Amino acid sequence: MILDAFSLAGKVAVVTGSNTGLGQGICRAFAEAGAKVVGVSRRPSTETAQLLGDDNFYNVLADLSSCEVIPAVVEGALKRFGRIDILVNNAGVIKRQDSIEFSEENWDSVMNVNLKTVFFLSQAVAKQFISQGGGGKIINIASMLSYQGGIRVPSYTASKSAVRGITMTLSNEWAKYGINVNAIAPGYMATNNTQQLRQDEERSADILARIPAGRWGTPADLEGAAVFLASAASDYVNGFTLAVDGGWLGR
Ligand code: NAP
Repeated sequence: MILDAFSLAGKVAVVTGSNTGLGQGICRAFAEAGAKVVGVSRRPSTETAQLLGDDNFYNVLADLSSCEVIPAVVEGALKRFGRIDILVNNAGVIKRQDSIEFSEENWDSVMNVNLKTVFFLSQAVAKQFISQGGGGKIINIASMLSYQGGIRVPSYTASKSAVRGITMTLSNEWAKYGINVNAIAPGYMATNNTQQLRQDEERSADILARIPAGRWGTPADLEGAAVFLASAASDYVNGFTLAVDGGWLGR
C-alpha cells in the first residue's frame, strides 16, 4: 500500500529549531507519521513537548551557533531513543542590514547557525547512520534565497545558497551509504523569521502580490514535503531542493 511508504513508524528524527515555526510543525507531522522526535532548541520546546507528549518527544537544549554542542546533541538523542534515522537542519537566523553597512557580527552569526553547524551536525549524524547501517535521511531547510539574491540579507543569501550547494555535495558522497540528503526551500511563510517583513506594509503587499497562491505559507504547508523526504517514499530522491513556495519561483 503506497501510504505505508510514507510511514515513519519506528524511526527517530532529530529536528533543530523545534520550539517554534516551521520546526515545530515538522516535529508535529513526524510524530503523527509515527516517529519519535528529538527536538533541539536553545530555549525549552515547551509547547512542542505538550503537543507531542513525553513518550514521543525529547528536548536537547543547545545553542547551535557553535559546533561544540554537536556531540551532546547526538549523545542526547541516542541516550533517549537509541538510534537516529532522520535529521532536519531547520534552525536558522536572518539579519537585515544594508550591504554597504553590513557588520562582521551579522555575517558570522548567520553563517555559523545556517551553514557551519548544518554541515558539521550532518557529518556527525551521517557517521551515526553509517555505524548503525541501514542508511538515513537528512533534510536541510533552504530558502527562496538559495536561488535569488534578496535585499539587505547578504549573509542569509550566502548561507542558504550554500545550503543548497552542500545538499548536492553530501548527496553525491553519501548516497552510496543509503543516506538521502535533500532540502526544502520554503517560500514566504508566516513565522518569526518574516515578522519584520510582514510588519512593513509596503514590502508585505509587494511580496503577497507576487505569490501565485495569493497567500503567505504556514508551517502546515511544509509538513507533507518533510514527511515525504523523511520516508521510504523518497528513497530514490537525492540532492534535490524542493520548493514549497505557493508558486513564487515559477514567476
Ligand atoms: P523561526 O520561527 O524564527 O524559527 C527559527 C528557529 O531556529 C527557532 O527555533 C530558533 O530558536 C532557531 N534558532 C535560531 N538560532 C539558533 C541557535 N543559535 N541555536 C538553536 N536554535 C536556533 O522561523 P522559521 O520560519 O520557522 O525558520 C525555520 C527555518 O526556515 C530557518 O532555517 C529559516 O531560515 C527557514 N526559512 C523560513 C522562511 C520563512 O518565510 N519563514 C522561508 C525560507 C526559509 P529561537 O526561537 O530561540 O530563536
